[in-house]
Amino acid sequence: MSQDIITNPISTQQIVELVLKHYGLDVTAKQLPGYIDFNFLLTSSDGMRFILKIANADEPMAELAMQNALMNHLQHSPSDRAPNKETTSSCDSFETPLPIKTRQQQDIVTLFDENGQPRFMRLLSFVDGVFFANHSKIGERQYQQLGAMTAQLSKQTAGFTHPSANRYLDWDLKQAPHVIDSKIDYLKDDTQRAQIETIRAMLAQQLTPFDEKLPQAVIHNDINDYNLLLDSAEESANISGLIDFGDMVHSYRVNELAIAITYAMLDTEEPLNVIKTITQSYHEHNPLLPVELWVLFPLICARLATSVCNSAKAILEEPDNDYLLISAKPAWRAIEKLLSFDAKTIGFELQRLCNITPFASNRHDDIIAKRKENLFQTLSISYQQPLIIERGQGQYLLDENDIAYLDMVNNVCHVGHCHPKVVAAGQTQMATLNTNTRYLHQNLVDYSQALLETMPDELSVVMFVNSGSEANELAMRLMQCATGSQELLVVDGAYHGHTNKAIEISPYKFNGPGGEGAADNIHIVPMPDPYRGEIKGMSEASGRQYAQYAVDKINHLSNSGKQLGGFICESLQGVGGNLIMPNGYLKTVYQAVRAAGGICIADEVQVGFGRVGSHWWAFETQDVVPDIVTLGKPIGNGHPLAAVVTTKAIADAFVTGMEYFNTFGGNPVSCAIGHAVLDTIKSENLRENALDTGNYFMAQLRELAATQPLIGDVRGLGLFIGAELVLDEQLTPATEQAKALCEILKRQHILLSLDGPHNNVLKIKPPIVFNRANVDYFVSQLDCALSSLSAQE
Ligand code: PMP
Repeated sequence: MSQDIITNPISTQQIVELVLKHYGLDVTAKQLPGYIDFNFLLTSSDGMRFILKIANADEPMAELAMQNALMNHLQHSPSDRAPNKETTSSCDSFETPLPIKTRQQQDIVTLFDENGQPRFMRLLSFVDGVFFANHSKIGERQYQQLGAMTAQLSKQTAGFTHPSANRYLDWDLKQAPHVIDSKIDYLKDDTQRAQIETIRAMLAQQLTPFDEKLPQAVIHNDINDYNLLLDSAEESANISGLIDFGDMVHSYRVNELAIAITYAMLDTEEPLNVIKTITQSYHEHNPLLPVELWVLFPLICARLATSVCNSAKAILEEPDNDYLLISAKPAWRAIEKLLSFDAKTIGFELQRLCNITPFASNRHDDIIAKRKENLFQTLSISYQQPLIIERGQGQYLLDENDIAYLDMVNNVCHVGHCHPKVVAAGQTQMATLNTNTRYLHQNLVDYSQALLETMPDELSVVMFVNSGSEANELAMRLMQCATGSQELLVVDGAYHGHTNKAIEISPYKFNGPGGEGAADNIHIVPMPDPYRGEIKGMSEASGRQYAQYAVDKINHLSNSGKQLGGFICESLQGVGGNLIMPNGYLKTVYQAVRAAGGICIADEVQVGFGRVGSHWWAFETQDVVPDIVTLGKPIGNGHPLAAVVTTKAIADAFVTGMEYFNTFGGNPVSCAIGHAVLDTIKSENLRENALDTGNYFMAQLRELAATQPLIGDVRGLGLFIGAELVLDEQLTPATEQAKALCEILKRQHILLSLDGPHNNVLKIKPPIVFNRANVDYFVSQLDCALSSLSAQE
């Protein structure tokens, strides 16, 4: 057969002749708009319609053959595409184009352009319908069908392979981080650039680490609203067809769903509902893995981000092309909307919606056996069925199957588990240098200054150590040097650490199981508990009355000729039961301590760094300035770092001739990390978040307490909240119920633990990135759990 040379532009007459020659069909032809190909709609004399595609010169034949192969595969795949239009939520039947062979039984015809370059021609059956993009009555029914259709497609493509599918494509979401990095400079608007940077950071945290775990397959890769067809323009329309296999690629299977969702939710009022409806429907028809649900939202954002980056390049190249600007607008609107949600919270919600439950794993038993063999038996493990936790992100912990749990407890990973900026600060410094304070290093002085700036002026000197216990140990040495005394007032039930001295000053330990009671120099004052204690309420009068116990102790000491060393007290009681002390308590006690020559130590190991929201430090809520403040837990967001902050006078008293050298304290890595934590609290407005979310949280809990009588008391400041469970008006502790509650909530993927002398206080002190959606989920689950507990009685 002679060579077919085509002209540019190609005439419809030439098309008609080519079709007659190769396919034996007598047709009329109409050119269709195409991105880079020539596309023609053909109508035969008997009314049949076809699409003729002439690929652009760069398109390799192997890739066209791959498209044909998949379209053929779909026609022949198992029969679960049998029509079933009765069920609105399913989409068992959808049509895809079918490649039509030439008279010579060829799938692809090679034409040549005027330069002698081959151009490949294919004929496809025509898929009729109304474009999703042009349909004005899209609703729940079609979203469900879209999910079902995408699921069906994934099932059918699962068994399909083709050597050409492993190709690089800018539109492959697997490449999104790279595409964004290489094109972000095309964005000239600062706000837009910042939005794309946020998405890029989201991908680094919530997509890239899971790369190896995401199932891969050959996917259509472009279920957009102009490739998707419906069978009518009515509200009752069904999704009936999918066209254009030009972007197929071997990639993450879940990208198919992410892309379908991206276009379906463009310019919808409630994009989150659309995301949820389509995802749930997909999952019903083709179950997704927990990890796929976790990365889905970042992938949707990635599709929008790559789309606007690609169009930004085109806009720069054609600044007068208004169409380019207009067509990018819906994606920008969607980006703005989606970035108002927390990506991890959506991952969690999607896992909950799809009812992802833990799968059996035999690793638990192995790990438990190894722990028993090699470690001290005194370590405890949470939950009847312990959890293997392998990853932390924000306020979530992920188990070995990437199933997320909402962390209500961890006040160490304060700015969120594995916060990328904190991690990066540590990694960078670790890869550069880690030494000790005997060399000069900028990090130590910079961080000291930044930390001291958050403190009242009097507290002007800091020493870095490695744990809260060590900080309290050092505080005790400082007290000895400053006052010459070891006589210490401690609050009943308090915990200050696990080292020798720290246990000696912790009634929770020395009066608890295995404890040996108080040493002679330790003087216990009652816990100022406005709910359960002898004196009720938060008033100043109550504060003064509780303080009177301390005043009496101090008087008793001086009457017996002893010099007071000091008073140590958490600014809010942690282990003691997440208690807020009545107003004026610390003020009155501090006055009495100082009048007796003692010093006042505030243990802020649990409660500092803006958790209370209104202030940086919880002691500020009592309107006092301590002489020593000990810091720990949140200070390094999980990195072992702690500090003692004090006055110049007390620090000077420590100069006895004995050197203080601490191998790790104040090292450049710890300082870089600590500094990054402070910066993050400020730059992400996390104090404001703690205050806002905490107040909302307490309001919701108090509302719940009105209908759930087990909740006896709700108290807190910011995101330091205690909810105390009691059985009756006599405040009989509901200890068993509280324990059962933690197990029930764990089944709903909430990690909660208990505190207080009776183990009946729900300890609520999550990472301070906790949000209102988290509160709503927790409170609704708490409500159900409490109801189920009441029903059992
Ligand atoms: N002080 C308080 C108030 C604490 O809660 C703790 C730890 N729970 C410590 C000190 C001891 O800190 P670390 O475990 O870092 O030694």
